[in-house]
Amino acid sequence: MEKIIIIGSGPAAWTAAIYAARASLSPLVIEGAVTQENQMKGTLPMGQLSQTMEVENFPGFPPADLTAFIDSAIPKSRKDLMMPHNPNDKHIQGPQLVELIRAQAVHFGTRVVSDDAAEVDFSDTRTDKNRVLKLIGSGGNVYETKTVIIATGASAKYLELDSVNRFKNKGVSACAVCDGALPRYRNKPLAVIGGGDSAVEEAEYLAKFASVVYIVHRRNQLRASKIVAKRAEDNPKIKIQWNRIPKEIIGNDTDGVTGIVLGSTAGEADVPLYVSGVFMAIGHNPNTEFLQGKVALKPNGFIERPVPFRTNTSVQGVFAAGDVADDYYRQAISAAGSGCMAALDAERYLAALE
Ligand code: NAP
Repeated sequence: MEKIIIIGSGPAAWTAAIYAARASLSPLVIEGAVTQENQMKGTLPMGQLSQTMEVENFPGFPPADLTAFIDSAIPKSRKDLMMPHNPNDKHIQGPQLVELIRAQAVHFGTRVVSDDAAEVDFSDTRTDKNRVLKLIGSGGNVYETKTVIIATGASAKYLELDSVNRFKNKGVSACAVCDGALPRYRNKPLAVIGGGDSAVEEAEYLAKFASVVYIVHRRNQLRASKIVAKRAEDNPKIKIQWNRIPKEIIGNDTDGVTGIVLGSTAGEADVPLYVSGVFMAIGHNPNTEFLQGKVALKPNGFIERPVPFRTNTSVQGVFAAGDVADDYYRQAISAAGSGCMAALDAERYLAALE
């Protein structure tokens, strides 16, 4: 019987593990498995951060010569799984950052299994210290525990086009705050796909660096709230392409993205739009499929946390941290912060049971 199991392997999960391990709770992390299915779904271990390039906004990692630090902190066996560190890189890369957080968790005694939590059984109705929560791995392994922290993250939705996959990280991104300030996008025309609050916020953020930002929206009215939509319309660097939908991303191996072929949802002819970057803002899918009917979810599928400023879920002893319960901030640092909170909540819950 475990005291605490953490499901996930992004910054929320590993931060929860650091805190739980330092509280002598000997956490077990179910970090996910490397499978083709997970690859297709965008849910490989180590989370969205491992799909990001330079990370400039995580406190404690200013531009610096990081080579020696990374070499000393990440075991060779794990480093070999990553792209080799380029000594000219001055910024921490997403995969390196999440490996460092993992190494910190392991250093304090976190145990890790490469498995997916495929199913949960939270049906034990006891409320005392004998209550058992069960997790069933994709290979059938059963894990029993007193508390669970769910930190399985969310996956950005991408348009389902072959050319989108070809140019991911070469001009196609789903995170303006993560990638927008990279040299590749500076003073260049960029496009944001979508018409919700995220699309407008991403466009506003990108407008600080770009020469112009086109919002490409499939209807003639933004979904974004009125006040947010007005900001887009008033920003001289943001131009909205109404009733348009990308049919193909165009580019080459040297320059990455060079443009988009825009189709029309209003019967107009296709037109090219010349841009150096395409940012998806068509929503995120929380990785909560395995929780359907077991934990209360919001209508958009994210985990509901009923108590303000706490990480409790609808199920006693089950806590949620990171993007799986956050449809608003979605940053590595806010995920890490909520991982810390979840570990403290779980620790206090366990102490109260005793
Ligand atoms: P969203 O509101 O679901 O908007 C997604 C947008 O993408 C919609 O405009 C949708 O078009 C478009 N879209 C979806 N699938 C598409 C496809 N296959 N091809 C082309 N376009 C597609 O998502 P969000 O903007 O990420 O916001 C999520 C939630 O977070 C919302 O509740 C939002 O209010 C909230 N949020 C709030 C703030 C804030 O208040 N500051 C900031 C960010 C997010 P249609 O409009 O035609 O459906």
